[in-house]
Amino acid sequence: MTGSGAPQGRTGLFVVLHQPQDVVNIAGVVRAMANMGLERLTLVDPAHVDPWRITGIAHRTHGVVDRIRQTATLEEALAGATYVVGASARPRTARRNYHRPRELAPKILRRARDGNVALVFGREDRGLSNEDLDRCHDVVVAPTAPGYSSLNLAQAVLLVAYELLLAGGGGTEALPPGKRSLGPASVAELDEMYDALEAGLHRIDFFKSRKAESVMRVLRTVFGRTTLDAHEARLVRSVGYQVRNYVARLEADAGRSD
Ligand code: SAH
Repeated sequence: MTGSGAPQGRTGLFVVLHQPQDVVNIAGVVRAMANMGLERLTLVDPAHVDPWRITGIAHRTHGVVDRIRQTATLEEALAGATYVVGASARPRTARRNYHRPRELAPKILRRARDGNVALVFGREDRGLSNEDLDRCHDVVVAPTAPGYSSLNLAQAVLLVAYELLLAGGGGTEALPPGKRSLGPASVAELDEMYDALEAGLHRIDFFKSRKAESVMRVLRTVFGRTTLDAHEARLVRSVGYQVRNYVARLEADAGRSD
């Protein structure tokens, strides 16, 4: 039953959808599972299953779809599980072990290391019944805005599976450093930049009607508000040099034609 593509510690996990009514939601669940590295899906008494439509909606998910298991009852689906977690949109009146997904994720992964763990989700229109929840050792309730706690089935699976991915150490790969890779500009680099800008502005008579000192102070304040990296400081410096050189060239050309 172990899958080759699943990150460590998650091969013991399987998602159970109890009486899913809409094949679009099943496809959404399959996609969420593939995204988060879960591979085993059990459908209990589904209204309609069409693998061709599922892979049409959730592309490149044969790894999950080809292994879908179907059972007639929830009891049958859970028979081989050693730990069962139900997902519910809201805490019911009955006393149960309610948890947030983030809080429960480490325990789910721990239990999945030495047994089969079932994550059970209810049907779209009425969720899990009290008898269904009685089969669950713990219940996860994802936080939502008050007054609208019922998530779409596939989104509920995504949220829980995402927490499992994070709890399992996923998502720690460094993102590309981007244009900040040169590090912030130094004081000397920034001073050079301001000098070049000031020289350029001088050449276009910018300070004829304005005080150089206060203009430069405003520019320092503006640039100071963002952290320029060395590359960006060099670019702004070039703007100043270019203005100065351009005006010098114009003057030289004018001189030659006199
Ligand atoms: N109308 C149903 C909700 C059905 S949503 C009700 O009010 O109970 C389908 C399934 O998605 C639910 O049975 C549950 O397993 C899951 N789900 C929906 N919202 C959730 C939430 N906030 N937290 C955890 N699971 C949720």
